[in-house]
Amino acid sequence: MTGQRIPDHVLQEIKQRVDLEQVVGRVVRLKRQGRRSVGLCPFHQERTPSFGVHPSGRYFKCFGCGAAGDAIGFTMRMHDLDFQAAARLLAQDLGIVLDGPKAQVDPAVARRRSEEWARAEDRRREEERQEREEQVAWCRRAWQSCRDQPPDFAILYLRGRGLRLQALPASIRCHPRMPHKESGRDLPCMVAAVQNLEGQILGLHRTFLHRSPDGSVHKTALKPAKKMNGTCWGGAVRLSRPASTLVIGEGLETVLSVMQALDGEVDDHAFWAALSLGNLAGRGQGMGAPHPTRKMKNGKPARLPSTRPDPDHPGILLPPWARRVVILADADNADPPAAEALLQCAANRFRGEGRDVRIARPPEGMDFNDVLKSGPADSGGPLKGSAGGSTPAAPPEGQDFSDVLRGAA
Ligand code: ZN
Repeated sequence: MTGQRIPDHVLQEIKQRVDLEQVVGRVVRLKRQGRRSVGLCPFHQERTPSFGVHPSGRYFKCFGCGAAGDAIGFTMRMHDLDFQAAARLLAQDLGIVLDGPKAQVDPAVARRRSEEWARAEDRRREEERQEREEQVAWCRRAWQSCRDQPPDFAILYLRGRGLRLQALPASIRCHPRMPHKESGRDLPCMVAAVQNLEGQILGLHRTFLHRSPDGSVHKTALKPAKKMNGTCWGGAVRLSRPASTLVIGEGLETVLSVMQALDGEVDDHAFWAALSLGNLAGRGQGMGAPHPTRKMKNGKPARLPSTRPDPDHPGILLPPWARRVVILADADNADPPAAEALLQCAANRFRGEGRDVRIARPPEGMDFNDVLKSGPADSGGPLKGSAGGSTPAAPPEGQDFSDVLRGAA
């Protein structure tokens, strides 16, 4: 082995500065479980995780094979090294300068480690692939289990949001009792299927509900009230038939509100929910403009998301029949400039695909569901006895949904 014994003060520095989760995370896919991070043990074969990093971030332990130790111990076991060689590897990773030319890491050791990292990477990818498959299989079973269930809970819940549906869209189902893991209770559920362009289910979006003594149905007060299983990335909840103008928004209630308000007013509009702004936008290339208000810790302005779409990570995919696209902006985003950048990224991507794109914005301080509930009677509201009892501000004089959509810039 090259090099002399590593001095104690250097060992102390390694122990203080090393990030065990990061060292372990190179070879093990760690997941949060309470305050610990757990994963499949790299030192023995297993299918359920018994390996974990202690909340202090100093020690690991496997309850399956008994392996335990700190970052140096982990590196010793992982790459089959003695104490000195393992410490030297970590010191090099941390940029700690060891004295003398003899203190270099043995090239054979470095090579062996990078091979082991590559194998771990493959293992992790395979693990992720299997997990995705299992999630999708779960989503499909759960979706099937809702097939013959009555739609009442979902219809009552949507009615409370000002939406008067006689029947649910084909992509929304209802279940009278689904397990809400966090509370240990069974709750009624509105279930929406996220589909890819081929119509396969990618994920399920669930809204857990509660029926009040007066018979009205609301979102549960338990947390979380909404859950995404599988993924929405790349897919959408399709709320209507295909048409040459596709209206897409983030939330189900938003899109359903616009759909209801435009019912009978416009022809040839289809409606999809992307469920997240990230999915709508897709990933952007590079950094965006400086954020107008937010600063980083070092005092420099934070960066907005890029408005330049990354073709390799597109998010929601639109069908060829959608020649015109109307993107619904949500007003309630916590960071409006960032949300605007994401909308522009989405618009740029769809324009790049040769589509005519507009962004429709609700009046200041409202979302489209507010507009629906406050709108004139002939465009869908106001509904008596709607949820909350608060009266949202009326939309600007003489403006209704179709104006908002037509005037979209
Ligand atoms: Zn183990």
